[in-house]
Amino acid sequence: MKNFILLFTILILVSTVNTLPSDNKNKFVLVIHGGAGATPRDIPEELQSQYLKSLTEALIIGKNILSNGGTALDAVEKVVNYLEDNQLFNAGRGSVLTSEGKVEMDAAIMDGIDLSAGAVAGVNKIKNPISLARLVMQKTPHVMLISNGAENFAKEMNVEFGDSSYFLLDSQIDKWRDIKKKMNENKKGTVGAVALDVNGNLAAATSTGGMMMKRPGRVGDVPIIGAGTYANNQTCAVSATGWGEKFIRNNVAVSISKLMEYKGVSLKTAVNELINNILQPNDGGVIAIDKDGNYSMMYNTKSMFRGVINSDGFLEVKIWE
Ligand code: ASP
Repeated sequence: MKNFILLFTILILVSTVNTLPSDNKNKFVLVIHGGAGATPRDIPEELQSQYLKSLTEALIIGKNILSNGGTALDAVEKVVNYLEDNQLFNAGRGSVLTSEGKVEMDAAIMDGIDLSAGAVAGVNKIKNPISLARLVMQKTPHVMLISNGAENFAKEMNVEFGDSSYFLLDSQIDKWRDIKKKMNENKKGTVGAVALDVNGNLAAATSTGGMMMKRPGRVGDVPIIGAGTYANNQTCAVSATGWGEKFIRNNVAVSISKLMEYKGVSLKTAVNELINNILQPNDGGVIAIDKDGNYSMMYNTKSMFRGVINSDGFLEVKIWE
């Protein structure tokens, strides 16, 4: 029944967006992810509905911005804000915990217009790390600020903080205790968004609590421009999810862009090369959009929470193949 209601809601939403203009000039595309991993197909129906509903709501937030002529940059930031506030995902509230049972979040945002980028790493009190990353991009001459330095800058910028009761969810603490016992979990569930706006600009944003049980101080691929996040109006915008160290070593996000630029291959071919030939099975996945609005949501894990919406009224949210 719940699934039916969800499907029905999606159909209504799709028919609403169908009224949007579909000529190239007013074309927009938004693709999101909520993490790649090994979500079993038999998760409770109720939980599955919650995930699909959350992904749909995130897409609608972005669609409302893009269909009103808003920028790709605003769309990816606001969509990621929503996913950071949503406890289902490993970013902002709901972030996974380090081996010491604390939250340490990373985030990055990039504007394809001029390759400007901002990132924060190892922050544990910022409610929306992606918005702080955008302030780093727009209000400092730097690309990345970390831990205390980032949080002092956030105070100057009057950014909203959350205390430990905001971040430390009982569910995460229970999971942390369980995993501490087993010590074999490779938890994944980062969030990300890439968008093409009606002016042909691309942007990417990614936010995460990182890997479950990571060492304090560990920084993953997400805030590293070119590894987990990249956008360039000449080629594509990319947001990654998965085993961060692999994405850093292989410079995954920028490699997709460079393959397109240097070899003239399509987005699909470039993404396939990185996900299926350079990375190994179960390493993760990416969402990507090229400058013409072609998009890809490819992963080599068992599942990836993901969704797409565009100006032709197409909307899709999925967890498995
Ligand atoms: N890539 C993230 C990291 O390594 C984790 C994830 O995508 O789930 O920090």
